[in-house]
Parts: sequence; structure tokens; C-alpha cells
Amino acid sequence: MIKLVKLLLTFSEKVDGAILQNFVGPSKRKMDVLRVAKLKKYKEDILLNYQPLHKEIYTMDAQNFFTPSFLSAIQENTEAAFKSIMHEPRPGIYTFDMLQPLFCQKLISEVIHYEKWILETKRKILRPSLMNKYGVVLDDFGLTPILDTFVTDFIRPIAGVFYTEFGGSSLDSHHGFVVEYGNSKAVKVELHVDDAEVSLNVCLGAKDFSGGQLFFRGVRCHEHTNSGTQPEPEEIFNHCHVPGRAILHLGCNRHGVKPVTSGNGINFVLWCRSSTYRGLVKTKRDFSSWCRECKRKKEEEEETMHQVKRVKQEPEWKRHLELLLKREMLSSFSFYAFGLFQKEMANDDDHARNIAYASKVSLFF
Ligand SMILES: [Zn+2]
Repeated sequence: MIKLVKLLLTFSEKVDGAILQNFVGPSKRKMDVLRVAKLKKYKEDILLNYQPLHKEIYTMDAQNFFTPSFLSAIQENTEAAFKSIMHEPRPGIYTFDMLQPLFCQKLISEVIHYEKWILETKRKILRPSLMNKYGVVLDDFGLTPILDTFVTDFIRPIAGVFYTEFGGSSLDSHHGFVVEYGNSKAVKVELHVDDAEVSLNVCLGAKDFSGGQLFFRGVRCHEHTNSGTQPEPEEIFNHCHVPGRAILHLGCNRHGVKPVTSGNGINFVLWCRSSTYRGLVKTKRDFSSWCRECKRKKEEEEETMHQVKRVKQEPEWKRHLELLLKREMLSSFSFYAFGLFQKEMANDDDHARNIAYASKVSLFF
């Protein structure tokens, strides 16, 4: 715990004064049996007693939920079609028009209606995560079936193309919620990573809203989320929310929400998870293909190994060089001596003396 606090403080000094926190979402993996049973009972009670305001948004109605451009790209289901409706301001971050205004309005009024009912009936409201004290979990009041379809039919096809290395094509569960910002609501969200492989964030509505940009600081693996190193310039990005427009990014791309300076805003967030991916990376420690910190660490280790190897090999290497130099010298000297011998042979008629001289020279070979 002390170590984590130290890490947070170290990081907070280095990255925009923000304190980095890990999201502790209501992931089933981390819940004990008792909590799971309690949550099940909590949801059952709501489903039995809550009367929805807009029943039509509880079943998938793609034509009325999504913009025609988004639907057309999904129907075409090709990388080119997805790219044609998307803007990619930074590698791995995609923005695109997704939800129709009427659907956004209905979802907002449904959330307000639900919160009112919770208050009136004196029930407890469960917040989306430890970092979102203002907002509700959409799965708690019956929207799970449409969110399941959101993931399988509308996010997975895109994620399968753009996030293949992160289980994009095997997304199979979700945590869906709305977060509210503004007057007496959340004014900012600290830098964090999501408990998700892929995160979708869509602004549902904003009234006189300013500030509150979604800011990014780059992708890091779990071990390096709290890394104190500065993000590279190309990892920094600020996104201004526009109602109906979605931003899709990796859950491990560190991000937060800048302070809201005026007005109100409400966003729909869908954390998409892949159990297959989580199983595969459970014991993995090296993410150097996408985590800059892992890459830097690996390069440093390789350089150290290389240096150690070089030091170990030096005597051998030196011996080889010395031998080569000796051979070179010997061969030069032999060549010189042979030249002398030839010269002497040519100028001297005394055969006996020539033989004696040749035998002396041959000693050098
Ligand atoms: Zn890493």
C-alpha cells in the first residue's frame, strides 16, 4: 500500500500533476462469493420492481440507435469501411459518430428516471466504479441484453480489426454505465486505466458544457501503469466531447477527465472485456510490442547482456587480434627476407655461398 502511494505521488509530480490510480471496477474476478450473491439479489430486486420509462431502448433497435454512417460501416464489416467513418487522432484512438440524438436523449431521461426511483424507494445506488461517484450502472436496471449486443455485434467487429493484439476479436463481456459531470457532480477524473481491453465512451449530452476533455497519456501494461516516465508527445491527446460522437480506445491507454469549468455533461461508457485474452496474458510479463516501458526495459537488459558478453569475450578476441598481427608481421618479414634472398642469388656467382644464405633465410619462414 505504502509502495503504491509512493508510486502515485512520484507519478503525480511528473504527469500533469495528476494522480494515477488503477480503476477498481466491480469485476467478478475480484469479488468474493458473498459480494456476487449480494449483487445478484440487488439486481433481481430492481428488475422486479423498476418500471422503465422508455421500454423501446431495452431491446436492440439498431436503425433507431445508431447513425446511418455507423450502421453502414458495420454492415460492410471491412477495415476500409470502418476507416471511412473514423478519425484516428493518435495511434489506437478512434473517434466516430455513433449514436442518434433521440436515443441519447432517451437514455439520459431513462437514467434520470431510474435515479429518481432509487431515491424515492430509498434503495441504495451502486456507482460504476470507485472513481465515478456520479453515474449509474446500466446493467443494474435491465439494459444488459442490449449492451451484450453492443459488444458482440457493434464493437467486436471493429475491435477485431484494430485491436487484434488485445483480444479485440474475442470480446465477450462488459461493464456498462453512465457518468455525469458538472454542477455538484464529478468535476474531474484522475489519470487511470480501465478494467477493460477496449473502452467505448460516447457523449450523450452536454448543456453549456466547457472543460471536461478526455485526456490520454499512452498505453502501458499493468506493471507499468504507474511508471514515472514522461509520456511521449505522440501519446498525449485531448478529446473534446460532442454528443453522439464516440471515442474508442484501449483500456490500458492511461486517461482521465480534465476539470469541468461550466455546465453539465453525461457520457455512456462501455468497458469491453475478453476472457480469452485475460487467460492468455495471465502469466505474461513482456509486453514490449506495445508497452514503451517494457520495450525500454528490454532494450536496457539486452544492452547489459551484450556488454557482459563483450567483457567475457575480450581475452579471446584480444588473443585473435594479437595472433593476426603476429601473422601479418611474420608474413611481411618473410616476404622481405625472400626478396633479399632472390636479390642476393641474382648478384652472386658463388653457388656455395648462395646455398648457405638460402638456408639462413629459410629459418625465417
Ligand atoms: Zn510494460
